[in-house]
Amino acid sequence: EEWAAAVAAVRRLPADARVLLICHVNPDGDALGSMLGFGLGLRRLGVRHLQATFPGPPEVPEPFRWLPGLDLLVPQDEAYPDPELVICFDAASESRLGDLVDRLDSAGAALVLDHHASNTRFGGVHLVDPHAAATSVVAQGLLDRLGVPLDADIAACLYVALSTDTGSFRFEATTPAVHELAARLLATGIRPGDISRRIFDTRPFGAVRLFGEVLGRARLEPTAAAGRGLVWTYATLADLARHDQPPYVLEALIDSVRCTAEADVSLVVKQVTADEWAVSMRSKGAVDVSRVAVALGGGGHRFAAGFTGRGTADEVVDLIRAELDGALLAG
Ligand code: 5GP
Ligand code: MN
Ligand code: MN
Repeated sequence: EEWAAAVAAVRRLPADARVLLICHVNPDGDALGSMLGFGLGLRRLGVRHLQATFPGPPEVPEPFRWLPGLDLLVPQDEAYPDPELVICFDAASESRLGDLVDRLDSAGAALVLDHHASNTRFGGVHLVDPHAAATSVVAQGLLDRLGVPLDADIAACLYVALSTDTGSFRFEATTPAVHELAARLLATGIRPGDISRRIFDTRPFGAVRLFGEVLGRARLEPTAAAGRGLVWTYATLADLARHDQPPYVLEALIDSVRCTAEADVSLVVKQVTADEWAVSMRSKGAVDVSRVAVALGGGGHRFAAGFTGRGTADEVVDLIRAELDGALLAG
């Protein structure tokens, strides 16, 4: 019935309706891919007044600067102040939307597409499926129900979303249904090799050197309660500046840390301002890191979660250790 409400919210839009698409701060492949792919679908349906935006600086991370539908993007200050419909992608809570929260309140209707178990059910109509591998799975389901045929541009966006959030179809959420969705996307003629190289396997040499330095200071700590370890490292704004790299390059760092065989839980603590740190957490299953993240004001999934911490990097890791000990003891 939520599907029916979502379909109705789109179908009943007048021809001159303004539709605003939004996604979470520091947008990743799923946030951008599901938002832009769905936007291109709405355009095919004849929605003429269509904008997409996200909170914070309007720069799209370099790996995604080729995505079809980038022309839908506007800086948040220029986005419709009171659209007839707002559609929100991949944001578990209003705190992930920054100043764009006011658009949810001022819009005629608000549709929320997401897949976080920690979703706080903000907004109006909720299409939140915690079993979906990516928000793009929900977006593709809604496009199907709206009768929008997939084309290569829509498919490229949705494929980026699906392949980033499943870790290239490696994570637990990679069900037969995920591969069926991917097969339909590939059938439009998009080239998975090209797309994967652009989004996963291309980075500046400075980032390679930066990773070397930051990985070189990683620490492995045995955690008594789990019987196995915690591995973590941190990266400062000074590290980025020294190697002349933008913050987004650090998104991939957690993948080089979490492969540590001796650790169940991995962390990367990334400096955002003088005393603010964006934390990426990963688990191999024994620990539900989303519980730790939610306890510290963030959110995410069982195997991948995050939050923003304050203080020094050491203080932030201390907070996590304390929560981890609690979570581990609780089972
Ligand atoms: P990543 O470590 O790749 O940035 O994020 C992993 C997961 O944790 C994603 O599902 C993301 O939505 C969630 N996440 C990361 N940072 C935050 C945060 O500050 N707040 C919330 N609510 N979720 C976060
Ligand atoms: Mn995301
Ligand atoms: Mn996602």
